[in-house]
Amino acid sequence: MLDVNPIRADFPILTREVYGRPLVYLDNAATTQKPLTVIDTITKAYTTINANVHRGVHRLSQEATDHHEAARETVRRFLGAASTSEILFTRGTTESLNLLATSFGEAFCHEGDEIIVSEMEHHSNIVPWQLLCQRRGTVLRVIPVTDDGRLDLDAFQRLLSPRTRLVSVTHVSNVLGTVNPIEEIIRIAHDHDIPVAIDGAQAVPHIPIDVQQLGCDFYAFSAHKVYGPTGVGVLYGKEHWLEQMPPYQGGGEMIGHVRFSGTTWNELPYKFEAGTPDFIGTIATARALDYVTAIGLPAIAAHEHALVRRTLDALHAMPRIEIYGDSSDHRSLFTDHSSVLSFNLAGAHPSDVGMLLDHLGIAVRTGHHCAQPLMERFGIPGTVRISFALYNTDSDIDAFIAALRRVAEMV
Ligand code: PLP
Repeated sequence: MLDVNPIRADFPILTREVYGRPLVYLDNAATTQKPLTVIDTITKAYTTINANVHRGVHRLSQEATDHHEAARETVRRFLGAASTSEILFTRGTTESLNLLATSFGEAFCHEGDEIIVSEMEHHSNIVPWQLLCQRRGTVLRVIPVTDDGRLDLDAFQRLLSPRTRLVSVTHVSNVLGTVNPIEEIIRIAHDHDIPVAIDGAQAVPHIPIDVQQLGCDFYAFSAHKVYGPTGVGVLYGKEHWLEQMPPYQGGGEMIGHVRFSGTTWNELPYKFEAGTPDFIGTIATARALDYVTAIGLPAIAAHEHALVRRTLDALHAMPRIEIYGDSSDHRSLFTDHSSVLSFNLAGAHPSDVGMLLDHLGIAVRTGHHCAQPLMERFGIPGTVRISFALYNTDSDIDAFIAALRRVAEMV
């Protein structure tokens, strides 16, 4: 089990107060706090090696390039990818999925072709595909969600057709915490020779990923949700697909030769990385992944699992609480439920609950969580969402539950 006290000491922001109360930060699915090692890496990189990467012959530029490319290797190892050619740096999951929809769409999707997503996707795994559909006449098919917040796999099988070009689904729901059976989804899709993209934004901070073992064709995540900096994301893509996809943006770095008679592209992964990358951010991302790896994702998951059980026990004992997704089977957490919980207090609007909790020092998220189709599925305007990270404690939960009891008396 984790020794949380020394871990908390790594996160300076956790010592601050809000409204004169100690901060209880339960909004980790939106973004995680950063350990000192990540913050220090950013300061150190700017103070010692700042120079643009890839283009300079001078020492500073070479050092910055070495660190940036070492960061790519760290990401490769973290995801279990075969080659750094398959690791594209982006600005976040959103950009990774836009890159995929644009570039894969241009290469492989035509009028009448189909893309399958699910009803529990974040908007960033819906809207880029809708834009593609508008451009190309491609059709979006949607896997429905069951009452207990799972993907309906029978319906998924029925959606597959000779026109299906890609299945793009989330690994973990950012609203329900459902861990989707992506191994099965990948197997079923591959049986039909259909590639699969996984939105891993909510999985990477909690579940060890091995893209080769999973066999997925694409996998996206954001550094800021896994204790890294904002502004950096990753798209893993199998070389075989990336080679066939056109560039996403044009500019410096992504070219071989530029001539007015015709321009050629750089090799992978640079073909997809136009312009100056956030190389300070990628270096800090590698530090964040090292930090997580040193503690160990299985230990982090076990710790968060215990927090979720404690919270569910307390919430189940409270009147007026409706929890979304399947919260009945505590034993199966992390094979099918991650460390995100969404609920409502009957008769109260989720944003009122969130605001009152905030004044009691508890940071939670309320609203539609960029998953409006899922809200529509459950017929609700939004939820209160709490989400855990490795630095949360039993006393965070107890403070949250005590505050929620007070809120329930007010609304
Ligand atoms: N996908 C999921 C499941 C998410 O939870 C989020 C962010 O909340 C995103 C995609 C978008 O991530 P970002 O805003 O870092 O691009």
